[in-house]
Amino acid sequence: MTDLDLLELRRVSRHFGSFRALDEVDLTVRPGARHAVIGPNGAGKSTLFGLISGTLPATAGTILVDGQDVTRLPVERRVALGVAATFQHSSLFLRETVLENVLLAVVRRAAGTGFGLGGLRKVSARAEAIARARTLLERVGLPTRHDTPAAALSHGERRQLEVAVALATEPRLLLLDEPAAGMSPAETARLTELIAALPRDVTVLLIEHDLDMVFELADTVTVMHLGRHLKTGSPDEVRGSAEVQSAYLGTMEVSS
Ligand code: ADP
Ligand code: MG
Repeated sequence: MTDLDLLELRRVSRHFGSFRALDEVDLTVRPGARHAVIGPNGAGKSTLFGLISGTLPATAGTILVDGQDVTRLPVERRVALGVAATFQHSSLFLRETVLENVLLAVVRRAAGTGFGLGGLRKVSARAEAIARARTLLERVGLPTRHDTPAAALSHGERRQLEVAVALATEPRLLLLDEPAAGMSPAETARLTELIAALPRDVTVLLIEHDLDMVFELADTVTVMHLGRHLKTGSPDEVRGSAEVQSAYLGTMEVSS
């Protein structure tokens, strides 16, 4: 590892019984990177994110965030270190409103810094949290939906809300698992703009099937195949790689 890496995976594996969903994967992510992870269904991409975010324990290997070993840390400790994820399957509170969903995440982040839920009882703290939630909703393009229950949002709006929820934890590393899945072309374009506009102090690790989106956003692309790391390079290197082409690109949809 160079001391420049924000995330480093060393020979990380995840087995389910005798099945190797991830098999000794090495990966480094530089601070400020727009790093995409691609690969066919079943390649192990979501499993990889589970291991990085802490929702799934690693079977073997080491995961470092900013040089700190987080391999055995629970999710909340990783959130406090700046790791946030949106998942392939939504984790929104559907009965709560849009604003409440973001507020819960603001509070969750504050809890990690010792602020605690009780802190929100203070009027000033509550006003500050609400102001922050409103700013985030504006940033993701949901400025007029505060009081709508999350369940009533369109598919694309839910994804935007998930990004706001993730950003509310003030991540240094934002993991996005297929954020454009099921989106219309217009919604995908809006989401692409949103990700492109994120400040560079948020490093983005993006799993995405929509290769147009990947090649528009990413400065680095990692290809996974059957639980293994196949190749990491610039978008052009990956696109031009005969190994990647034959192993995989020809078998994948170009957009979802
Ligand atoms: P991807 O996100 O690249 O499509 P996943 O990481 O979801 O791939 O899955 C990788 C492989 O691990 C798949 O074959 C999947 O069936 C398997 N897998 C994922 N989660 C589990 C689990 N909880 N139990 C058993 N097998 C799993
Ligand atoms: Mg997946």
